[in-house]
Amino acid sequence: MHNIDSKIIVALDYADITEAKLLIDKLSPDLCKLKVGKEMFTRFGPEFVKELCKSDFDVFLDLKFHDIPNTVAKACEAAADLGVWMMNVHAQGGVRMMAAAKEALSRVNSPAHLIAVTVLTSMDKSDLTALGITQEPSTLAQSLAQLTHNAGLDGIVCSAQEAVQMRAKFTDDFLLITPGIRPAGSAPDDQRRIMTPAEAVNAGSSYLVIGRPITKSDDPVGILRTINSEISDL
Ligand code: C5P
Repeated sequence: MHNIDSKIIVALDYADITEAKLLIDKLSPDLCKLKVGKEMFTRFGPEFVKELCKSDFDVFLDLKFHDIPNTVAKACEAAADLGVWMMNVHAQGGVRMMAAAKEALSRVNSPAHLIAVTVLTSMDKSDLTALGITQEPSTLAQSLAQLTHNAGLDGIVCSAQEAVQMRAKFTDDFLLITPGIRPAGSAPDDQRRIMTPAEAVNAGSSYLVIGRPITKSDDPVGILRTINSEISDL
């Protein structure tokens, strides 16, 4: 981890690598961490991730692995070899899959954090019913979070709204990574339930995933500095 543990993870959602690099060149590991997801990884591959890690950024590789335990364990090992700081799996892959992934990381002596996605926020009750799941999304998220904790993982991705309940259940060392963050006054875009950075940290969030308010800004460094100072004493 970098010397200054910024709580902000900038979501790099770019189809154009030149555009992404224009932003990255303005940033520094003290200001923020970076998240690479399925779009950029599929277009630009592991070399792009390695390059970011070599530039000293803490990188969250957001590929949400979900497969048989052996395959996910090997994929996590491969991600650790890239030098990433954090990676994730789907908790719905089950406790054996999660435990195998965690075990693989400890075997290769990787300090990378392993976290899980519980229920995608795009899924509502009717989507779950169509899958034969009768629980409410929030109830399912709670039990999958418990399963993640039992499997020995380091935390979960959850909405800032869920963070309060999750934090009541798990101690501070269980990481809560929250998207859906908007600094006061910025456009919600397609996010429905948003929280400001300070609200999210007060709700128990460990790291904030923020994309467009930073990537689409004329002054990304200014915004990052403002948010970092707003949440530094919380
Ligand atoms: O631009 P914005 O701040 O909305 O980006 C949020 C990032 O977090 C995107 O990369 C999005 O895919 C991700 N994300 C999310 N909601 C979730 C899980 C991930 O917005 N529930």
